[in-house]
Amino acid sequence: MEVRVASKAGFCYGVKRAIEMSKDTVRNRPGPVFSLGPLIHNPQVVAYLGKLGVREINNLGEIQEGTLIIRSHGVGPALLNAAQELGLDIVDATCPFVRRTQVVARDLMTKDYQVVIVGDKNHPEVQGIMGWANGKAEVVENPWEAGLVKARGKKIGVLAQTTQHMENFNAVVETLEKTGSVVQACKTICSATSERQKAALELACQVDVMIVVGGADSANTRKLASLCRACGTTTYHIEEAGELDPAWFRGVKAAGLTAGASTPDWIIEEVKKRMSEIEELNGSEEGMKDAVEVKAVRHGEIVTGTVVHVGQDEVMVDVGAKSEGVIPIRELSCCEVTSIQDIVQVGDQIEVYVLKAEDNEGKLILSKEKADAEKAWAGLEEALESGQPVEGTVREVVKGGLLVDIGVRAFLPASLVDRGYVEDLSKYLGQVISSRVIEMNRARKKVILSRKAVLEEDFAKLRQELLTNLEEGQVVKGVVRRLTQFGAFVDIGGVDGLLHISEMSWHRINHPSEVVKVGDEIEVMVLKIDRDNEKISLGLKQVLPNPWDTVDQKYPVGSVVPAKVVRLAPFGAFVQLEPGVEGLVHISHLAERHVAKPDEVVSEGEEVNVKVLSVDPAEKRIRLSIREVSREKQEREYRDYNHKKTEDTGDVVTIGDMVGDLFDKK
Ligand code: SF4
Repeated sequence: MEVRVASKAGFCYGVKRAIEMSKDTVRNRPGPVFSLGPLIHNPQVVAYLGKLGVREINNLGEIQEGTLIIRSHGVGPALLNAAQELGLDIVDATCPFVRRTQVVARDLMTKDYQVVIVGDKNHPEVQGIMGWANGKAEVVENPWEAGLVKARGKKIGVLAQTTQHMENFNAVVETLEKTGSVVQACKTICSATSERQKAALELACQVDVMIVVGGADSANTRKLASLCRACGTTTYHIEEAGELDPAWFRGVKAAGLTAGASTPDWIIEEVKKRMSEIEELNGSEEGMKDAVEVKAVRHGEIVTGTVVHVGQDEVMVDVGAKSEGVIPIRELSCCEVTSIQDIVQVGDQIEVYVLKAEDNEGKLILSKEKADAEKAWAGLEEALESGQPVEGTVREVVKGGLLVDIGVRAFLPASLVDRGYVEDLSKYLGQVISSRVIEMNRARKKVILSRKAVLEEDFAKLRQELLTNLEEGQVVKGVVRRLTQFGAFVDIGGVDGLLHISEMSWHRINHPSEVVKVGDEIEVMVLKIDRDNEKISLGLKQVLPNPWDTVDQKYPVGSVVPAKVVRLAPFGAFVQLEPGVEGLVHISHLAERHVAKPDEVVSEGEEVNVKVLSVDPAEKRIRLSIREVSREKQEREYRDYNHKKTEDTGDVVTIGDMVGDLFDKK
């Protein structure tokens, strides 16, 4: 077996410098020497420095005198001042790259920029930089969080935690630029991390197995292991040589070795030496015997196989070994399995993790859940950093939310399932949904999702597109979402516009519910677009026929038509000929006799016949008369009566005989 070490592995410049400074300090300075927090994320190195005399403290209150080493992450000015006031000797081992970032933060803040740091707000390096920006910087992890920055329209200075990815930093800058702010991007990223990752990835693609050495708490070491796994190579993360298992190297032709930024050379050398010893062991007779008895499928390996049988509580998979492997039902999914067929079916090609390699009895125990999880964690770290959504199937409704299978079990809180409140979460069961990873902790197997974040972003894009393309006067389709006293909110394709009550109908209405109800699909006209305040006014009556367009044909002068009294005024009565068309009967035209007040003759709601005196569609005015209808009626009665009397007696009766001086009155 060939053992290859990555071209860039182990200590970076800043960490190496801090260790050397610490060793010098304990050698050359009198009195006790302290470091605030562990000097690096490697328990072996911390223990080694402890033996030399560097004691770890959690806060300054624990000491009164001695020398304080500031670790490579750096600290804020407040802490430096406090240490000076205590009279402590300070050895500042802040990495020069980190120091430069602190200076950039301070300068931007002095020039009135809103400082935005791209990084992890809980990381000590970021907390230190925050201090140099007077504690007023905003910290964002990804472009999505950048979209929430409150300094829209102001001068923004962006800098990065030194271990950030350049792609993520650029994406954040791009998001901030879209807000219309003046953005000053300061590239404070240190290339040590990306170079180490690139070298690890290149090596992982060339070997059969990869060993990554570094503290279990070291985020950069975990990231290295994830990257190696992502290229399909079986990868083991260890802290020291003693954890190496000979079984990992059986049948292996080439093994790769890399290490995180906090791993010293001597640990890398130990691991390399142990790997060579294992190779000799596996090459010996004993090793050969094991290799024959136990097939090439090894514990911890992820292999591809074909499902050959689906039972009640287990699944059989052919992975090309001597015997078929068994996946117990509990190893099928990270969530509760109600039907195995929902997860796998005979003939499916799946990846499985070898829980127990074939022994002399030929037992091979596999786990689909672990294989999915291994793959998923690598992708999840990327997803958390970049803000890219992940897809998963909703498996369970639990107290407070949903459990989603995204390769690992993730929790989606009820309040983050949709843009609004969801009464019944069970409707999502079995659905494949897209969500954003907003929090994760691999050690605790905890992942929190937000589907709402993805929906909000889609909605914002849709809204922006719609606002850009929409034109006043355009007729669009919409769905009534909500009614209020003053109108209705109508969704016109992802954006709600306001349909004011006055724009709903050509006739007077008291409440929007007289015209529309929630859920109605309607066509509306875009009346006004306020792009600055993102407000859209809509009209419904504008797409309906205007009854005033045809009034002169429907109500010709001289015609008598039915109407309804809708309002009384001191000068007459308003009557409705049809919804949206009202005319006035002047007080002088209410009756044959003198009328002092309209309510002597008519009342609201009363049905009457009116004669059309004049029509003015442009001014929306119709003059009407009840008096004329009454007069004509009496004339008709007179004519009928006169006609009948002439027939009976031959006498002629005049109108004066019938109505006296009635027509003289006004
Ligand atoms: S990763 Fe870069 S910035 Fe961070 S300590 Fe190492 S050299 Fe310094």
